[in-house]
Amino acid sequence: QERFAQFKLVLLGESFVGKSSLVTRFVKDEFLEQRESTIGAAFLTQTVSLEDNKTVRFEIWDTAGQERYKSLAPMYYRNANCAVVVYDITQASSLERSKAWVKELQHRAADGIIIGLAGNKLDLEDKREVPTEEARAYAEEAGLLFFETSALTGENVLELFTEIARKVPFE
Ligand code: GDP
Ligand code: MG
Repeated sequence: QERFAQFKLVLLGESFVGKSSLVTRFVKDEFLEQRESTIGAAFLTQTVSLEDNKTVRFEIWDTAGQERYKSLAPMYYRNANCAVVVYDITQASSLERSKAWVKELQHRAADGIIIGLAGNKLDLEDKREVPTEEARAYAEEAGLLFFETSALTGENVLELFTEIARKVPFE
């Protein structure tokens, strides 16, 4: 029997960590080197098929990371079933910002929200500041799914969204 569900997903994280690039990779399988920074938020959709005839349609809000848009974030995460909080593995400060977003989601978003932590720019291994094990340990302690991704090469991008789709409960 076929089952279909629609989930709202919000992307959060500091500016420039690659939120828009991750969504573009997931939705269009493209990477644009030069892109305009997001103003307010962008809305996109993508469907993933799971085992056992399940299909999930994600309604994605790609938020702007700038401080001046911070007050808008609750509008996007309030009704979200899932969130992807993104940091850049080459910027240790961006992981600290992610931790603050996770805390805010865990206090103020819906109970049971599925949160994925994505350490992006995995292709820039030579500039890495955040060790994989440090981020993984934090993710485990905070109860988050964890992936290191590259929007540039596409590594782990589909895996991240597919794992989230598996974890969100179908009614
Ligand atoms: P956002 O502000 O979080 O939405 O970040 P963007 O998606 O606009 O990306 C910010 C910058 O990082 C852009 O110059 C992107 O080309 C670059 N970028 C994004 N993802 C990756 C990645 O996986 N690898 C590399 N090398 N650069 C990336
Ligand atoms: Mg953006």
